[in-house]
Amino acid sequence: EMLRGKRVIVTGASTGIGEQIAYHLARMGSHILITARTEAKLQNVVRRCLELGAASARFVSGTMEDTAFAQHVVREAQTSLGGLDMLILNHVGASYFGFFDGDVEHVRKLLEINFLSYVAMTTSALPMLKESEGSIVVVSSMAGKVGFPFTVPYSATKFALDGFFSSLRQEFAIQSINVSITLCILGFIDTERAVRAAAEVLRELPAPRDECALEILKGAALRRRELYYRYSSTRLPLLLRDCAAELLDYLVRSRYRLPAAPGA
Ligand code: NAP
Repeated sequence: EMLRGKRVIVTGASTGIGEQIAYHLARMGSHILITARTEAKLQNVVRRCLELGAASARFVSGTMEDTAFAQHVVREAQTSLGGLDMLILNHVGASYFGFFDGDVEHVRKLLEINFLSYVAMTTSALPMLKESEGSIVVVSSMAGKVGFPFTVPYSATKFALDGFFSSLRQEFAIQSINVSITLCILGFIDTERAVRAAAEVLRELPAPRDECALEILKGAALRRRELYYRYSSTRLPLLLRDCAAELLDYLVRSRYRLPAAPGA
């Protein structure tokens, strides 16, 4: 009920968790603007959203490598929805799963997609969100709270999100700006990309993406500062971070089936 009639942007909604967020919003009767690169997939998601009961559903396709596109999506919300109540930043650029290969250009490109476009969209959307006293939802990861092996560039972009949005939240409090920021710390979720990359090396089972999407929306509607899903594989281990950081590092490494070290 809290999201009925609300105007929401969801990025990275052609597949995975973003797609499931769009379907939940549709069932809740929201106005939805989705974005990603693949137009054909976005068309299908919009069609399904309308079938599920969305107040309205539309898409804009393009790449978040381009800051101008990020700003364009927000302008589209202004033009077609007349304002914005919730900005859900969820898209993620492709990266590799393996030891850091020293490719600095890849790190730069990933920062543009996973971090700078989030900053650009937030900056453009802020006037509308201030007016609606709305919400910003930032989809991050355990890899943005504690060092993870094999995803060094990805982890760096997720840590950057925490720094930017946690600092911005402080400034909103000082300035009495009533725009909530919910940082979502996710564990392993059963999206195609994640399962393809990590299912064989991770010792844990992935959590369902539709349930994950619903938990993100609940956390956003309740204006929580951080959301942990699943709690047992994210919040609980993170309790060790300040008192037993090396134990936490060890527990993170022990989640992987590692190849034997040379000569071992
Ligand atoms: P996903 O299935 O790979 O979906 C990624 C989305 O981002 C797609 O819609 C993709 O669509 C879009 N995208 C990719 N590159 C883009 C670009 N250059 N410009 C614009 N859009 C782009 O990912 P997911 O697993 O659902 O992850 C969603 C979020 O959850 C991410 O922020 C991820 O870091 C976080 N998360 C996921 C897991 C997990 O295990 N799945 C764990 C922790 C955190 P196009 O290819 O059509 O552009």
